[in-house]
Amino acid sequence: MHAERRRQYLEAIGIEEWRLRTRAAPSSAVPVSAVPVSAAPGSAAALATPTPPQSAPVVAAEVATQWEALRAEVLACRRCPLHATRTQGVFGVGPKRADWLVIGEAPGAEEDRRGEPFVGVAGQLLDAMLRAIGLDRRSNVYIANVLKSRPPGNRDPRPEEVAACLPYLERQIALLQPKIMLAVGRIAAQNLLDTDAPLGRLRGRVHYFGERNTPLIVTYHPAYLLRTPGDKRKAWEDLKFARSVYQQLSTGTAIDGNRS
Ligand code: URA
Repeated sequence: MHAERRRQYLEAIGIEEWRLRTRAAPSSAVPVSAVPVSAAPGSAAALATPTPPQSAPVVAAEVATQWEALRAEVLACRRCPLHATRTQGVFGVGPKRADWLVIGEAPGAEEDRRGEPFVGVAGQLLDAMLRAIGLDRRSNVYIANVLKSRPPGNRDPRPEEVAACLPYLERQIALLQPKIMLAVGRIAAQNLLDTDAPLGRLRGRVHYFGERNTPLIVTYHPAYLLRTPGDKRKAWEDLKFARSVYQQLSTGTAIDGNRS
């Protein structure tokens, strides 16, 4: 990405001080000089194995039909009481062949009103963060939430609500087959990784999700970053780390599982 454009994106995120140091060392972002992973299963070669020839028109049409059926199910869902208080289900947004999948917690008020994830103030910050690593929901990143319905007053999702809704996200993941996932915030990270570990312990290393061992990186929720702007710099480190993992996947390099 052009340096000036990236500088503008970073300024939009609000980490101008970082910018000054980066300009002195423009190549610091990639590759990450990290400690080789010991715990993470899967190799880059296995993960980068080309997907089966799904480009055949018939298969593509079937997948499109499955996406539409899933979307219709979500919009009509009554599996948990949240259907009674929501305006509408919020399915997901982005190209259905995106390599990147970003997963948040649940729709807020604006998302509930408009039917699209991350379109409120936190969403604007998320968009700026993603743009800083070359991602855009209109072209190369899919965005979804753990919950498809807004919890009243934006309270935390309840375990039974997550249990009811997570299968929808799992089906989205199965259809999308992303190359890399980014969980934003504690709720998304803990539920996807099935752990109670605090966010701070989940950041900075590659996790693997599901049967396809999809690499998953954890970072802060943009709403948290709006309240705690001092942590934006750490979020930027996470984004650079995710980008480097993706680049390693794309080049078939063995993944460095820990951020340096
Ligand atoms: N916060 C989330 O986690 N998801 C949204 O879609 C909006 C805000």
